Amino acid sequence: MDLDGQVAVVTGGASGIGWAIARDFAAAGAKVAIADIDEERARTAAREIADTGATAVGLPVDVSSRAAVTGLFAAVDAQLGPVDILVNNAGISVDRGVRRITDEEWDRTQAINQTGVFLCSQAAAGSMIPRRTGRIINIASRAWLGWYGQLAYATSKGGVVSATRSLAIELAKYGITVNCLAPGLIDTPLLRREPQEVMDRLLTAQPMGTIGAPADVAWAAHYFAGPASRAVTGQVMYVCGGKSLYAQPA
Ligand code: NAD
Repeated sequence: MDLDGQVAVVTGGASGIGWAIARDFAAAGAKVAIADIDEERARTAAREIADTGATAVGLPVDVSSRAAVTGLFAAVDAQLGPVDILVNNAGISVDRGVRRITDEEWDRTQAINQTGVFLCSQAAAGSMIPRRTGRIINIASRAWLGWYGQLAYATSKGGVVSATRSLAIELAKYGITVNCLAPGLIDTPLLRREPQEVMDRLLTAQPMGTIGAPADVAWAAHYFAGPASRAVTGQVMYVCGGKSLYAQPA
């Protein structure tokens, strides 16, 4: 129970990778806030964790809205206590390539994937700095290295990697670590939205020939949340079965 009593906020925690992280942290003793734009699913997910005897709450948030993020952290503070661990996981992928993506799709991608990381990190840091402790874990993507047809998504995740490094530098003196995970293909509803022919092409380009599970990312997130990584900050860890080692288009 190496996260015993820690208060963890997982954005986008009602599905896929965030849901796996929420369950993993709760099993390690953390009190988990599942914060998601889908309030109903967040509450259902929290109930499922509570059924195991752990502490969890489901809370609504749109991470791209300052007012919603302020409300989220006030609710977490009131219901669980000050946040110790923030996982910036909420993200979307709506790309259709540089020739077809619309202004609205571009703006929405940056607002959720990048501005969401800024708003939640700022709110969490505000309560972590006075206590001289905290962990921030950002979920980027291997796509930040460049991904065919994913201009907006890859750009947003490049921003997440860069934000990780700058936050790590700024918050180090307060004992707060900030690290980043860059998953490759992970079997979640987000990935399953891709058409079969795209999936087939993506799979053949996988060095290990497989798609990862949400738990693979959760285990890596656990390392960044737990005591074993206390001297590690500003790092990007790839959970992509070796895909980041190759330059070929996805
Ligand atoms: P998912 O679609 O299964 O889950 C995303 C969750 O985020 C959903 O519950 C959704 O309701 C929530 N969400 C969406 N917009 C939100 C908003 N504005 N505010 C709050 N919550 C919001 O996707 P996933 O695959 O689990 O992705 C989680 C993260 O992992 C994302 O940041 C994604 O970019 C990243 N990622 C996923 C993969 C993959 O292959 N699945 C690979 C690399 C990176």
